[in-house]
Amino acid sequence: MTKQRWMGVALILIAACLTAGAQTKSLAAADSVTKPVLLPGLDKQLIDSSADPCMNFFQYACGNFTKLYPIPADQSGYGTTTMIFNYTEYTLHQLLEKVAADSATRSAIEQKIGDFYAACMNTEAIHADGLKPLQPELDRIAALKDKKDLTDLLAHFELINVNAFMSFGEQQDIKDARQQIAVVDQGGLGLPERDYYMRTGAADEKIRQQYVQHITNMLKLAGEPEAKAASDAKQIMQLETALAKASMDVTSQRDPKNVYHPMSVTQLAGLTPEIDWTAFFERTGVPSVTNLNVANPDFFKGLNALLISTDLDALKTYLRWQLINGTPGYTLPQAMDEERFAFYGRILSGQPEQRARWKRCVQATDGALGEALGEVYVKDNFSPSSKVATVQMVHDIEDAMDKNIDTLTWMSPETKIKAKEKLHLVADKIGYPDHWRDYSKLIVVRGDALGNATRAAEFENHRQLAKIGKPVDRGEWGMTPPTVDAYYNPSMNDINFPAGILQSPLFDPNATDAENYGHIGGIVGHELTHGFDDQGRQFDGSGNLADWWTPEDGKKFDEKANCEVKEYGSFTAVDDVKVNGKLTLGENTADNGGLRLAYQSFLEDAKRKGIDIAAKDSTGYTPIQQFFLAHGQNWCGSIRPEQVRLQVQTDPHSPQEFRVNGVVQNMQEFGQAFGCKAGQPMMPVNACRVW
Ligand SMILES: [Zn+2]
Repeated sequence: MTKQRWMGVALILIAACLTAGAQTKSLAAADSVTKPVLLPGLDKQLIDSSADPCMNFFQYACGNFTKLYPIPADQSGYGTTTMIFNYTEYTLHQLLEKVAADSATRSAIEQKIGDFYAACMNTEAIHADGLKPLQPELDRIAALKDKKDLTDLLAHFELINVNAFMSFGEQQDIKDARQQIAVVDQGGLGLPERDYYMRTGAADEKIRQQYVQHITNMLKLAGEPEAKAASDAKQIMQLETALAKASMDVTSQRDPKNVYHPMSVTQLAGLTPEIDWTAFFERTGVPSVTNLNVANPDFFKGLNALLISTDLDALKTYLRWQLINGTPGYTLPQAMDEERFAFYGRILSGQPEQRARWKRCVQATDGALGEALGEVYVKDNFSPSSKVATVQMVHDIEDAMDKNIDTLTWMSPETKIKAKEKLHLVADKIGYPDHWRDYSKLIVVRGDALGNATRAAEFENHRQLAKIGKPVDRGEWGMTPPTVDAYYNPSMNDINFPAGILQSPLFDPNATDAENYGHIGGIVGHELTHGFDDQGRQFDGSGNLADWWTPEDGKKFDEKANCEVKEYGSFTAVDDVKVNGKLTLGENTADNGGLRLAYQSFLEDAKRKGIDIAAKDSTGYTPIQQFFLAHGQNWCGSIRPEQVRLQVQTDPHSPQEFRVNGVVQNMQEFGQAFGCKAGQPMMPVNACRVW
């Protein structure tokens, strides 16, 4: 759907990004806007006291959640973090409605976010315009006379986020993190991932048929006669399948070495001579590129063969589809918007209803002008005292990791020194950036939804590409302030917690320490541990891909990690689909290491404050039990089976249930706190531990 920007970022939560698509109700005004609730740090109502915490802790901590909070029809899953997401979306909505009113008192950024949002909400104009706003782009494709003209068109499409054949962007050089370099990578698929084109079995066959039908429907809505639309769709599927065959699977892509192949533009031209690369870089505004990372050279070889063997008309058909599919759903005519949702929302994610227009427009504004929206948002929604408290907790957890490294019996003193060097160089980013992004050159026009989206895409792509050859801005953020998520970036060696995730129940200044350490403490520890998971451990403290491990320690790390690969690989996610232990290894390592660090900090904190952590209080639980319950309740919720299937096949995070049980069964401290016996499911004899 939208272009994947190439970033070495590992996210912790189920991505907050939503499938672009259609609305099922015709008028935004019909969608009710009610204030969502936030859960407390420990919610006893969610606990299923009929369940045995030693048999299935997730069921115990969260068993009543789905009865109390069933999945809303416009979502593919619902849980603790979705509730924070909805609450934040509501807050942003109030803010945007206010600045969308055209008044002379608006500041420059309020005008931009307000008019962007207003244009998105103007369904009357959008639906009346039909495909007219897209016509100039369709004309460009129609005007192609020769394959030689492709280069210019592909360059233009990259700038407006149309993911045709490949993707292009910039990244920090993984072997010299001070440098920003250009990167070209595989791309051009309409299904979520290459294996969707390859896997055998009835479920996957069916999705492929439905995808071809979806393309047919969209082309018909774009004005093609039925028979032509159907034969075009088949041709598009053939072409995408050929691209998929040349692509790398998601698990292999997780190893940074697999996606790092620095070469000269001349060498790239040797792989794909059908594209005039010098002209491509000139057209995208970066003529100085002479060397770059070709993430997957085999893909570019395959792409060349495909460009030669496919005739120009078939290439044009594919480009038309990629253009339509890359156009944001909210800017499309209603019937196309609904058809888009029917496939990507209903079929792929199992979501019965499209999200309300205002929700989609809040997300679109965040996507296009996130730091402008964030600048206005944090003024009233993130207090300086929350920042101080979070900074303190992050420091405590970093101290816990320092001590934790000393206790590792499997690591040599040499590697321990290096690990600590890296740890001490981790940069903490909390709440929002120190310097706000300048959007003054981005023109936002009230009443021009597609134009705004296109200009915002070009603005962002030029901003990113302008970094090539320049020093790295260490202060930059990869998430917007209202985002309910967090990340670790190995090239920056920084951990990032936007204001959006620092809300109840994850972080609440009025909650108990046990609750805050169990919730946000575990997440802080999770991000920190990413610096030392199977991916992160390959980078040093300056962000360079460099092996700082002794060979012996590296081998031991792999053995320890392999225990988790097996543990998670044995969990059944849905029907016959198991969790992919290799794909989720980094996230599982971070979950396990993260909660252990949070636990150690929690103990230190209680000692400092003289709290008896083994004594029951008015909640009926000891502070240690509260800590684990808070961790469990981080992940309360349920996901529709279609979404579980999608997640297990594409997402490096394990489903929620296993983010809880997979971790506690590796911590003896949990079993002891709940009186479990060795050998029970949550207290197995052979527990795994990496960090
Ligand atoms: Zn993570």
